[in-house]
Order: sequence, then structure tokens, then C-alpha cells
Amino acid sequence: MMIESVKGFLKSEFGTNLDKATEQEVYYALSKTVMSQIADQWRKTKEAQSTQKQAVYLSAEFLMGRALGNNLMNLKLYKDIEAELSELKFSLNALEEREEDAGLGNGGLGRLAACFLDSAATLDLPLNGYGIRYDYGIFKQYFKDGFQKETADHWLKNGDPWSIRRENEAQIVRFSDGDIKAVPYDTPIVGYDTSTVNTLRLWKAEPLEPFDFELFNDQEYDEAVEKKNRAEDISRVLYPNDSEEKGKILRLKQQYFFVSASLQELVAKFKKTHGKHFDKFPEVYAVQLNDTHPVVAIPELMRILIDEENLSFKRAWEISRKTFAYTNHTILQEALEKWWVGFYKELLPRIYELIEKIDKQFVAELKHAGYEKAQIEAMRIIKDNMIHMAYLAIYGTHATNGVAALHTEILKDQELKEWYALYPQRFQNKTNGITQRRWLKLANRELSDMITELLGNSNWAKELSDLRKLEDYKSDEAVLNRFLAIKKAKKIELAEYIKEVEGIEIDPNSIFDIQIKRLHEYKRQLLNAFQILNLYFDLKENPKLDIVPRTFIFGAKAAPGYFRAKGIIKFINEIARKVNNDPDVNAKLKVVFVSNYRVSYAEKLFPAADLSEQISTAGKEASGTGNMKFMLNGTPTIGTLDGANVEIVEEAGLENNYIFGLKVEEIEAIKESYDPVAVLESNPRLKQIVETLIDGTFDDGGTGMFKDLYDALLEGATWHTADNYFVLQDFDSYVAAQKQVDADYRDRLAWAQKCWMNICGAGKFSSDRTIKEYANDIWHINRIDV
Ligand SMILES: *Cc1c(COP(=O)(O)O)cnc(C)c1O
Repeated sequence: MMIESVKGFLKSEFGTNLDKATEQEVYYALSKTVMSQIADQWRKTKEAQSTQKQAVYLSAEFLMGRALGNNLMNLKLYKDIEAELSELKFSLNALEEREEDAGLGNGGLGRLAACFLDSAATLDLPLNGYGIRYDYGIFKQYFKDGFQKETADHWLKNGDPWSIRRENEAQIVRFSDGDIKAVPYDTPIVGYDTSTVNTLRLWKAEPLEPFDFELFNDQEYDEAVEKKNRAEDISRVLYPNDSEEKGKILRLKQQYFFVSASLQELVAKFKKTHGKHFDKFPEVYAVQLNDTHPVVAIPELMRILIDEENLSFKRAWEISRKTFAYTNHTILQEALEKWWVGFYKELLPRIYELIEKIDKQFVAELKHAGYEKAQIEAMRIIKDNMIHMAYLAIYGTHATNGVAALHTEILKDQELKEWYALYPQRFQNKTNGITQRRWLKLANRELSDMITELLGNSNWAKELSDLRKLEDYKSDEAVLNRFLAIKKAKKIELAEYIKEVEGIEIDPNSIFDIQIKRLHEYKRQLLNAFQILNLYFDLKENPKLDIVPRTFIFGAKAAPGYFRAKGIIKFINEIARKVNNDPDVNAKLKVVFVSNYRVSYAEKLFPAADLSEQISTAGKEASGTGNMKFMLNGTPTIGTLDGANVEIVEEAGLENNYIFGLKVEEIEAIKESYDPVAVLESNPRLKQIVETLIDGTFDDGGTGMFKDLYDALLEGATWHTADNYFVLQDFDSYVAAQKQVDADYRDRLAWAQKCWMNICGAGKFSSDRTIKEYANDIWHINRIDV
């Protein structure tokens, strides 16, 4: 039946038929077929939600990945379509591979937004996402001579079957240098095994007029389209920074652009149902600010209420505060967003005026509460000509949450201590989660089918805490052997894919030791690299050394302007070149840096992992979600007590994971007197390893990258003290933990049991749990039966 529809779209969209169509065309026609199948449910969901309180997720990033497989799965059509297509000699898998990832995010923060949308739709909760429809998502990465190179991600080049342009719902966003049209593109968010279809609405920036006709007639073509180009620049490209803010005026434009368009829409819709009873606004909309990127929403809603609806400042303030809530994603100082007041004054003068008024009101409140001048200066929103977005966010919302228990505790007793003292009731924890639909059911069908079989009538795809019941099998040899066979199968699949796209052969019998995440110093890919060199030198000294063969797999993009992160990529690629070409070691060691790590690649990597690398400096990783994806696929963690790792080992058992390194308090205790040079001098092997950065062992092509890495460890560089991330300090305990992994991996059943216990403990890390907490504790929304 669906095939008939596919044929129809092949004909109308491409003038072709199933015999002649390319895979790309069949992918597109099948996607259109899914869109037409869900159209009625989508409309009904919208109608049902219009009479109830709704939550809105404002986010500059949504890292959605591919849609086809996920939607077919959520509609429970996957297996049928796969079978029907295969009779026609098409592989559904191959069609899925034709889809470009929607890479409209950098990493964890954007992927979290995507998991949240999936969970809310599955739970029939009225949550809709609002963001930016970037023409170009996160850059594509490839390596040339081991260096990262970037190219534009033209993800829309073959069209986008998953979105609908809603011209008639366009908004106008006003900047001091001209008005911009914001046109919404809606993508359906299909809930799993339910009829709810929520919406991701992404705004595209366009000029009010397509081009200047008079200039065109005068043959001044460049000038005729100049305005168009300047307008479209706003939604042209995603900023590829992760964990580091760049105060660029175009980024400010992006932020205000999508926030203003979204809020104008909400206020207009509100007026249709509630007239001018704006005090009811927070009872109709709960708006979550995903990090500080959309925090300009606070003064923008006030502007609309004050300037366009004639409310008083005080009333507008109360309405805003009750409407918004803020999620903090980082404690890295360099990532805390601040804006120079000059940019705001120039581009958004009225918004700046309102922020000044908010700041004045805050200062008055603190004075009234008896705060000292110095305390007030430390906390105020506008300080040294900079606007502190996190402070505006805490003051201007009713809830501030961290994203893992440890992270929230650090916010409360260190980073935001004064704020916690002022507003203790506003602080909450919401430990992150991931959707088990994409990250287990879709990515690892073999393991999913096994779990389904063992759990009998459990609907674990909707109730992940059911995984706990698998503990009954933790000593069942047949079950554990079956698990190992599945792991092996996924490793073989990954090896085949890596052979195809990277041209490198890896051995599925070796330990797949995987670190995949954005490249950042605090995530310490360099520590991993040093440990590999340690093994390399061990093997060079003693080629007969008995170690279990290992394949170290990395995947990571570095922000294009982050020189040191790019140096770490080059360093790992140089290690790979040396290790992989040295016959003394390459039967036991292999290193692969996969290119262009992204959601669709991640779906192949997590199920195939034997070891999950979560080795950030304690206190630096707010939560992590990659750690949860590994765990769910039966992979023990080697990691520090950081972010959600703490809760992961609580759930899965310390004995089933490999925890090492300094804890947050220990780092606090030693950091003032930390002497990395002394650490190095007392450890000849570590010294040998670190010296490879400067002794000519590796060639950085004259870029100075390796010397920079060396200096960062031993002399301090830029704003850092030396070895700011305690790589040298944690080296020994990391090596010891890795030795334990090598020892434990040999007992296959005991190892399988560790893997299994990680699956059993993964229930807490479903984003369904997280979303229920947001819905109950912050948004106060209820499920709606469509
Ligand atoms: C899950 C995910 C991340 C986040 O990984 P962390 O290890 O939590 O930093 C980043 N990128 C992609 C593509 C992901 O799927």
C-alpha cells in the first residue's frame, strides 16, 4: 500500500518509476510517503494542543541526525517497509544511507534537544521545539596529511522531504539596521507507538522583498541582491564553536532572530484564545531556554508586552519570569556567554534599554536585601560593559537547572554560589538522558530483539527502567554468550563500514576502545593518546608483551578556530600513522581517527564498543550523554567521577566500570600547588611520552602545534596555568585502570557480565525520565491524548 504512494511520488517529483529511479529518489519518495501518512495526526496534535498548556523548547541547536529510519520505527512500519522494499530489490538500509544528517548542532547540547523532542512526543506531552533553519549545519570534516579540514555542510542540496514551509505564518523581526522576514519550516516529531506528532519549527531568514527591482532594471545586479544576501546571512550557517563562546555580531543576530520570531508567534496565538489577559500567559506557555543562547527572550517578551501590548514594566517582568526557565550546560568560564554592551546598543537599542532597567531593578532589590556594594557589583547583570547572560537568565526565570547531580551541586556550591544563596528555591537538577528508541532500538536491532525476547511483555522502548529485570540473567551463560555474539556482529559491521569510508582495516577480535565526542582539552583526548604511546613503548621494549589486541577509535570535530584542539587531532593521527605501520606492534595495536563524526556515524559506533572513554577532568563535563549511549549498548566505562559518570556507576555498579583519577575535591585541594614539571620529572616513561611532542618523533608539518601542546602542559599558555586539565597528574591512574581492563577482558563471561550490568542499570538515563521531570517540576504540563 505504501509502495503505491512511493510510486506516486516518484512520478510527480521526478517523473520516474521504480525500475529507473535512483536510491536517492526512492529515499525521497518514501520520506514523502511517510509525511503524507502522518499529516492527519500532525494536524490533530496541533489542534488538541491549542487548548492546553504547552511547553516550548527554545534552542539555537537541534542535532537531529537522520529522520527516515527513526520515523518508520516510531510508526512501527520499519519491518514491513523493509520487507516490501526488499521484494523490489531495494535495501531500506541503503536508502537510509542516502539521507543527509540534519546537523544543526555542535554536539551534546543540540543532541539533547533532539532526544527531548523524541521523548516528549512519545509521552504525548505538548512540547514543541523552536530554532534556526541553518542552510549549512556543522561543517563536514576530513583529514589531509592528518590535519583537520572543513567543508560546508550543504545538507539541503537534494531537498528536504521532512519539512513544510509555512509562508503564511512568517513573522517580521526588527533590527536597528532593517527588518527581516522569518519564515517557519515545520518538521514533524513522531512519537513512538502513539498518535502524537509534535513539531520542530525552524525559522529561515529572508528579506522582506526578494530583490530591488529598480536596481535590477538599471542592470546593477550585485546591488539588487545585496539586501537579500545580508538578510539570508542570518540563517546561513551554524556557529561551530562548542564550549567556547565567540562574541560575533552575526551570532547575536541569530539569537534575537529566532527568539523574536518565536515569541511574536506565541503572543499572537495567545491573543486569539485569551485576548489581552496576559497574566494568564504563563499558564498557557512554559518556555525553556536551552543554555544562554536564547536568553534574549526575557527582554524580548517584555518588549512585546510593554511596547506592543501596553503592559507596565512590572507586570511584564512577572509574566516573563513565570514563563521562562533556564538550563545551564557548563561551568567552563570561557564558555559563559557575555555580550559587549556596544553590540546590543547598536543592534537592539530597545532591548538594551530593557536589560539596563532589569539590571537597575536587580541592584535595587539586592540593596534592599542588605547586600554590600562589592557583592552587588559581583552579581550584577551589566558589568564592565558586558552583559552576563547567565545572570540575566537566573534572575529573569523561575527555575535554573543543572544537567547532572554533580554538575548541579557544583553550580550550587561553587560557580553560582551567591545565586543559590539568593534564590535557593529556583535551583533544580535534571540529569540528562538519551532516547532509547534511536540509540538502542534503531541503532542495535540485534540487542533490542534479544532484550524484547527476554523481557517478554515489557514495553521497554517506552519504559526503560524495565531493563533492571534483565539482572535475572546476569549469570546465565547462554544469555551472556548471546550478548557477546551480538557485540561481535556489531563490531564486524563497524569494521566493514570503517574499511569502506576510511580505507582502514581493523580486527573485530581486538578490544574496540572508543572515544567519540567533540575535541576539547577538558575532554582529554590527549590523555588517551598518551596511554596509547605508553602501550606502544611497552611493546617496543618487549614485543612479546602479552596484551589483548586493541583498536583505539576516535571521532571528534574540533572548532575550526581552536588551534590546540586541532593540534591534538594531528597528534593522534601521527600516532596512528606510526603505530599502524610498525610491524613490531601492529598485530596488537591499531589507532583510527574516523572522519566526520556525527549522529549517523555515532549510531554505528556505540553498539560496537567494548570500552567507553569518559575521561574528562573531574568537574568539567557537565553531564555527558555519549556515556549513556555506550552504557545502553552494553559497554563499560573507563572514566573519571565527572558529570553523569557518577550516576552511571551508581546504577551499574562501580565493579562493572573503571573509575580512575582525581575527584573534584581532590583537584580543588591540589590545584594551587600543582606542579606538572615535578610530576613529569618523577615519571621517566611519562617524560618519554611527553617529549615526543618536541623531540622529532612526530612531525606537525612546521605548524608549531606539537610545541604548543607541550607548552600547554609544562609552561602554561594563554590564560591557563600549566596542565590546566591535569593530564599528567591522572596519567598513572589511567594507565592502571587500562591494565585492569586488559586483565578483565580475557575472562569473556566475566566481562560480558559487566557489560550486561551496564544495560541493566541504563533505565535511569532514558530522556523519557528527564522529560517527565521537566514536565512535572518546571513546565507543569500534562499529557494530551490525541
Ligand atoms: C551524543 C553525542 C554527542 C555528545 O557526546 P559527549 O560524549 O556527551 O560529549 C556529541 N555528538 C554526537 C554526534 C552525539 O551523538
